[in-house]
Amino acid sequence: MRFTVLKFGGTSVSTAARWATIGDVVAARRGAGLLPVVVCSALSGVSNELSAAVDAIAAGAGDPDAVVASLSRRHASLARELGVDPAVCTAEIDALLRVLRGATLLCEAGPKVRARVMAAGELLSTRLGAAFLAARGLAVPWLDVREILVAEESAGEARHFLSATCGFARDPAAIARLSGDVDGWLTQGFIARDRGGATVLLGRGGSDTSAAYLAARLGAEACEIWTDVPGMFTANPRQIPGARLLRALEVEEAQEIAAAGAKVLHPRCLAPVKAARIPLLVKCTEHPHLEGTRVSPDAAGGSAQVKAIAVRTGLVLVSLETLGMWQQVGFLADAFSVFKAHDFSIDLVSTSETNVTVTLDPSANAIGPGALDALEAALRPVCTPAIVQGVASISLVGRGIRGILHQLAPVLRLFEEQRVYLVSQAANDLNLTLVVDQEQVDRLVVELHGLLFAGKAKDATLGPTWAELFAPAPQAPNRKRAKREGAWWAAERDALLALADRPRFVLHGPTLDRAAEAIQRLSSVEAVFYAVKANPHPALLARFAAAGLGFECVSPGEVAAVRAATPTDRLLYTPNFAARSEVAAALGAGLRFTLDNLHPVEQWPELFRGADLHVRLDPGRGRGHHAHVRTAGATSKFGISPEQLPALREALAACGARVVGLHAHVGSGILQPETWAETASFLAEAAELFPEVEVLDLGGGLGVPARPGQRPLDLEALDAALTAVRRAWPRYALWLEPGRWLVSEAGVLLARVTQLKRKGDLTYVGVETGMNSLIRPALYGAFHDIVNLTRLDEPLEMVANVVGPICETGDTLGFSRRLPATREGDVLLIAHTGAYGRSMSSWYNLRDPAEEVLLG
Ligand code: ADP
Ligand code: ASP
Ligand code: MG
Repeated sequence: MRFTVLKFGGTSVSTAARWATIGDVVAARRGAGLLPVVVCSALSGVSNELSAAVDAIAAGAGDPDAVVASLSRRHASLARELGVDPAVCTAEIDALLRVLRGATLLCEAGPKVRARVMAAGELLSTRLGAAFLAARGLAVPWLDVREILVAEESAGEARHFLSATCGFARDPAAIARLSGDVDGWLTQGFIARDRGGATVLLGRGGSDTSAAYLAARLGAEACEIWTDVPGMFTANPRQIPGARLLRALEVEEAQEIAAAGAKVLHPRCLAPVKAARIPLLVKCTEHPHLEGTRVSPDAAGGSAQVKAIAVRTGLVLVSLETLGMWQQVGFLADAFSVFKAHDFSIDLVSTSETNVTVTLDPSANAIGPGALDALEAALRPVCTPAIVQGVASISLVGRGIRGILHQLAPVLRLFEEQRVYLVSQAANDLNLTLVVDQEQVDRLVVELHGLLFAGKAKDATLGPTWAELFAPAPQAPNRKRAKREGAWWAAERDALLALADRPRFVLHGPTLDRAAEAIQRLSSVEAVFYAVKANPHPALLARFAAAGLGFECVSPGEVAAVRAATPTDRLLYTPNFAARSEVAAALGAGLRFTLDNLHPVEQWPELFRGADLHVRLDPGRGRGHHAHVRTAGATSKFGISPEQLPALREALAACGARVVGLHAHVGSGILQPETWAETASFLAEAAELFPEVEVLDLGGGLGVPARPGQRPLDLEALDAALTAVRRAWPRYALWLEPGRWLVSEAGVLLARVTQLKRKGDLTYVGVETGMNSLIRPALYGAFHDIVNLTRLDEPLEMVANVVGPICETGDTLGFSRRLPATREGDVLLIAHTGAYGRSMSSWYNLRDPAEEVLLG
């Protein structure tokens, strides 16, 4: 009997249309003389719901009846769509209810219970699927996969029940069991049993691995992973529309891409197909005719090449500092045995003479509350540990990467401005990984991808871009249009077109007013100072002053601009490396001054006599979330490190100056609302050294989503987190300094199309201004939405790089953008340019940058 294994993921089993495709594929494989074994995930979102139900039990808030009622409704509704009797689910639903009720009564939410509860997702989806295929006349019986997949013993209860592994040697008994007179089998992904017969899970996303185990045990011809994307891409195509389809990969490369974070394949699914020399295909259930990716078990040994960028977020980094590690025999053994004792698996490692830095493997570690504190405490006798959360790894994956490091120089330059916590070059020569702050990842990936893949010719490995695959056919009905729901500029289209006689930045007054109003509704924040550097347009400054905002200035020019626009005295002055004369002038004029270095007070104490100051701290050396490793802390030119505070206190006491405010700024473009509360706690602890502190200034960095579909910063959650801080430290007033958040969305750049060009596979649309007006895409790889305002209602028919007229390859405003059939003279609108647009313009190439005007 020749088997083939087909695995369908969550979205692939959630609608009747997808099940129709499953039926077609099964029939086609049967027609080709193969016996298909279909492995299914739970309906999308169900595993998360079940996991949340167990969390609720652990928190004493379990509600089994509500959970089961909602799951039951969801499955009954799909049953109706499929035209099958919802009663096929009854036995599984009842069993789930019993387990949940029992667990709630006993308040029992351990790994064993979690495995039993979560298994229900796959048991339910396969019951529905089997009934559907039977109704279509296919003899595809339901099979309990636990008959065949038996987990190996593993240490630790969590690993045993939640992240089990199974053997994958060819299994004659299983082959005999499944070699019946049927059209195929339908079974569950994700679950297996242990030797004692208890249900265990293969780890989140583990259905791919179930399929691979079955394929290996049955000696199948192929293992097909059917999902919601048409293959493995050079990066996550949902984030990078220019991501290229990887038509062919060697199994080691696919393994490395999956392990480095590309969620499309579970990292453990490659080993079984590799051992059994079975090809693995990645296909898309919604578009079954697209070619997909073929992962071949044969090493092709092609030329060295980066094939993908993969990202893992939410990593935990542990830095172990010691003096003279190499004299200490057995230091690594002692340190690593602590990780073992606390059941933590280590992923990346880098060492220097006095420091070992590691990351914890997120797929192998279930990090419960308090686990990291316990690890830190246990490491303390051996070394000085520091734990940093919220970091991410970016991996460049491909064969022979060591041999092409020199070619990667321009790519690595992108990391110049970053804190790089750890670099690791895998021993198998397949990946180069850098660990950086999480908030940098989106932008770095866009830039890296552009440098590595944009414009590369198609070949046997690199296929079309995601955008090309999904650019709608020219005559297709209901073609997608660019109109963005709710964008102010769509409503003001006529007025904007009238302003586009030359390149112009346009600011929308009502949108500015709304932002100013919204930020002032934060009840936890005493005062908001607009960071003038984002956009110093005089009309905008006057408007914000009238709305009650203060201003944060970083140069005498900005102070002058605010003074010229409005009589306000709500000014903060936060210069960086300013000359003595500038500091003297600011203090002489009585500006509220933020000090961010010791040099001024130590060298020019006479300027500070009797002054009330704010002090900017570098949270890079703080505790908790912001505890950074030593090499990293030094790379930021801003702020005073907490170790320097005693020296600062002495220097200030000597000249009779007082610290009345502490300030920190953690980064920019941040969308996690808890960030500022963490900064506040860090500052509140530092404030213990300075009894006169009244204000904690939490800086800016409030992010704005740039891409359609991204979720904005949750201001209510921010307010709630800061309210909690105020309760803990009621004596401090909290201040914020947003720049981008207040103005970004209110601005657009308008530029007419000058020329079009086709070269190889690429189309270029040129516009009359570029990086001289808007430098963010070139400087930071920033993403700005681009639409053709002239043809806003026309369907999107082309994919193009939008470029400016500057003699510089970096002068690209957007890569692989979908536009309607665009012509010379059309007006393109580049969105979200209110912040750091005009204020960062230049006269490069002696071309005037676009001027900025206010509308409304
Ligand atoms: P399933 O439920 O079918 O198992 P998953 O959500 O686990 O699907 O995996 C598919 C998702 O993987 C895609 O929707 C895509 O967002 C993500 N993904 C991440 N990196 C890549 C990549 N390099 N190529 C393709 N998809 C990727
Ligand atoms: N349903 C499981 C999960 O969501 C397994 C899978 O879909 O691969 O983790
Ligand atoms: Mg998956």
